[in-house]
Amino acid sequence: MTADPAAAEGGALRCDVVVVGAGAVGAATACFAARAGLRVVVLDRGAPGGGTSSAGEGNVLVSDKDVGPELDLARHSQRVWRTELAEYGPRWEFEAKGGVVVAATEASRAALRELTARQRDAGIEALDVDPDELAELEPHLRPGLAGGAHYPEDAQVQPVLLVAQLLRLARESGAMVLPHEPVTGLLRTGDRVTGVRTPRRRVSAAAVVNAAGTWAGEVAALAGVRLPVLPRRGFVLVTEPLPPTIRHKVYAAEYVGDVGSSDAALQSSPVIEGTPAGTVLIGSTRERVGFDRRPSPAALGALARGALGLFPALAGVRAIRAYHGFRPYCPDHLPVIGPDPRAPGLWHACGHEGAGIGLSVGTGQLLAQALTGTPTALGLAPFAPEREGLAA
Ligand SMILES: Cc1cc2nc3c(=O)[nH]c(=O)nc-3n(C[C@H](O)[C@H](O)[C@H](O)COP(=O)(O)OP(=O)(O)OC[C@H]3O[C@@H](n4cnc5c(N)ncnc54)[C@H](O)[C@@H]3O)c2cc1C
Repeated sequence: MTADPAAAEGGALRCDVVVVGAGAVGAATACFAARAGLRVVVLDRGAPGGGTSSAGEGNVLVSDKDVGPELDLARHSQRVWRTELAEYGPRWEFEAKGGVVVAATEASRAALRELTARQRDAGIEALDVDPDELAELEPHLRPGLAGGAHYPEDAQVQPVLLVAQLLRLARESGAMVLPHEPVTGLLRTGDRVTGVRTPRRRVSAAAVVNAAGTWAGEVAALAGVRLPVLPRRGFVLVTEPLPPTIRHKVYAAEYVGDVGSSDAALQSSPVIEGTPAGTVLIGSTRERVGFDRRPSPAALGALARGALGLFPALAGVRAIRAYHGFRPYCPDHLPVIGPDPRAPGLWHACGHEGAGIGLSVGTGQLLAQALTGTPTALGLAPFAPEREGLAA
């Protein structure tokens, strides 16, 4: 299949799985499906990684999730990052740096302790820390904080490298990756989805995986099914390169509440981390404003104030750029993973909101297991496309 140059130039293709979307989730799905022996074609209407996957941070977190299916998926993904994919970690700058959550007031410290207790019961390493321990973990944090929590399992990757390298692994296992080729229609045999159509070709396949991120609802609509994946905008500020200043991924305890909230208004709680290049990433805002791409002084101002509130040492440091993206958001804050019984042959791997980088590899592995008829390492029922939480 991959060896046929005529196919790459516009001829019809036949394979086992077509993946629509080459972001982190589609790339991980392609990688695991190809490594499981399936013949895979990946299509993206733009450049691989050019969607939300190149517009976020790259945190791989267990800390920001309360107990439930998303935390289960995060734990499963942690295993995949650290076992099956461990040898490739340097390719995507996997840093097992750990996370530090900071509580400014006694009230937020008490709420954080309740969360860490629940997480410990679920098997997460969540260590309550007092103000002195906080200062040891992060010497540049402002004094006078009430306490916090340390999560040694939290990690970080470089998302653009991740997409490129997962696709490389997929290609090495025989997958074909076709950028700049939008899926404009689905092939059908009766009710069954049997492939996709692009302006250049038809690609027949036993399974079509919708990994179109924030645009997954549009792909689902091509099959006549409703999938409420919505955009939730977020901005990130990037500083000039600094000497090592911030050791962990550090964020305010209020961030967990913001993540789970369905409020449409602007929310901002500081999430700060250094990168191997020396720049510091300051995230992140959340707001539901559709696909509005205009710069937002309100959002960027809130990010800068939040960062200075945690790290006064950042005063005087220059921000060299800011960027934004649209998190793929489902009303119940859970991704959609698995086959769609409303359109047999159509599968989904989308809607990971603000965690799609961290959850990508677990999702890809689960989907590859399901596609090959292998028992999945984690039950997919909570992520089913026809679940009640998506009906609203
Ligand atoms: C500010 C911000 C910060 C974030 N920080 C983090 C973080 O720290 N950690 C984390 O885990 N997550 C983070 N996220 C979320 C994360 O970026 C997303 O969950 C993730 O990138 C989603 O990946 P995806 O592959 O599903 O979607 P995408 O990367 O958007 O990929 C979907 C692809 O589908 C393609 N496509 C769409 N329609 C079609 C079509 N019809 N035909 C062909 N191709 C199509 C698009 O071109 C796109 O490339 C953040 C997001 C934002 C905005």
